[in-house]
Amino acid sequence: MTAATFGIVGDIPARASTGCGLQVPYVMTSTRPDNVTCLACREFAQRRYLELAAYVEQVTRAPGTGIDLRERAARAAEEYLDIARRFAAGQN
Ligand SMILES: [Zn+2]
Repeated sequence: MTAATFGIVGDIPARASTGCGLQVPYVMTSTRPDNVTCLACREFAQRRYLELAAYVEQVTRAPGTGIDLRERAARAAEEYLDIARRFAAGQN
């Protein structure tokens, strides 16, 4: 079976912009810290995950937000911070 069989081909762009501003084939990109070797891209990803962590905590701090949602947001923020730390690790 080819990928087209699963109907995912149309959802995946052929090319993507990297954190350092290059246009590369999408298949060459990764969101896994272990796979990203470009320093500029690692720094970019680190910043984005830090922003994401701050964002989910900020939006759930609004009055009226349920405790359950706040707890889930806190866990999500922890995961984003962990990913950010992994992008920061390995930089000299
Ligand atoms: Zn890069």
